[in-house]
Amino acid sequence: MPELPEVETVRRGLAPAMEGAVIARAEVNRPDLRWPFPARMAERLTGQRVERLRRRSKYILADLSGGETLLIHLGMSGRMTVSGDPLGQFVHTHPAAQKHDHVVFHMDNGARITFNDPRRFGAMDLMPTATAEDHKLLMVLGPEPLGNDFHENHLIAAFKGKNTPAKSALLDQGIVAGLGNIYVCEALFRAGVSPRRKAGHIAAVRVAALVPIIRQVLTEAIEAGGSSLKDFRQADGELGYFQHSFDVYGREGEPCRRPGCGGTVQRITQSGRSSFYCAQCQR
Ligand SMILES: [Zn+2]
Repeated sequence: MPELPEVETVRRGLAPAMEGAVIARAEVNRPDLRWPFPARMAERLTGQRVERLRRRSKYILADLSGGETLLIHLGMSGRMTVSGDPLGQFVHTHPAAQKHDHVVFHMDNGARITFNDPRRFGAMDLMPTATAEDHKLLMVLGPEPLGNDFHENHLIAAFKGKNTPAKSALLDQGIVAGLGNIYVCEALFRAGVSPRRKAGHIAAVRVAALVPIIRQVLTEAIEAGGSSLKDFRQADGELGYFQHSFDVYGREGEPCRRPGCGGTVQRITQSGRSSFYCAQCQR
C-alpha cells in the first residue's frame, strides 16, 4: 500500500508530464473505482489545463484551469504509469492497453498517464478548487507531517490524556495526516518509544522529539523516491515504488539495529495491523 513518500514520489514523477499541459482526452473505462466516478468525469476533464499538481496526505490533487480540482487516491494497489513523455524522462513508447487500465489521460504534450488498479480501492473525484479542503476525504485530516502546522505543541496537545497506544495515535489521520503503518513503526523505533505505550503516558519531551524524527523518516524516504525518479528509465514507466530499507518494519526476528542494543525485532498485532519494534530499547 503506497504511503506518503510513495505518493509524493508519484506526484513528482507526474508533474513534468502534467503540469502546464492540457488533458486533450480523458479515457474513463468504467463507472467507478472504490466509489462511483463523478458525473461526466471524462467531459469535465477534457480540455482542462493542469495548473498545479499538489499533494495532501496520500491524495494527489490536480488543480485545473476551469476551477475544479481532480483528486486521485491510489488506494491499495493503484499504479500510475507515464509514457511518451516529451521531456525524455520516461519511456517513449506507449505500452499496449492492459487489463485494469481504468483511467487514461492523453496530454496535449504527447504524454500519456495511465491509472491501473486491479483491486479498485483507489478513487478519483472532482470538486471546486476553492473549497477543495472541504471535501469529505480531506476535511477530516490533521496537519501535514512536513508542514508548519505539525509542531511539538500540536503533538503534545494531541497526545495529552490519550489512552490509546502511541502507534494508534500516530496512525490517527486527524492528529497527523498521511502517516501509515510502515513509517509509524520506523519513527517510533528511532524515537525509542514503544508502540504499545499509551500516548498520554509519554513524557512531553519525548513526544516533542517525535516531531523532527517523523519529518526525518519521511524526508529520507522521499529522497530515496527522488533518486528512483532520477534513474527512472524503468522499462514500464511505473511511478512510486522504490527500494528503501527499514530499521524495524518487516524485520521480525532480526537483530535490533540500534548500536549496542542487542535486542531482537518483534512483531505484534495492534488494531489488526502489524507493529514491528524492539522491546529492549523502545520503552
Ligand atoms: Zn533495540
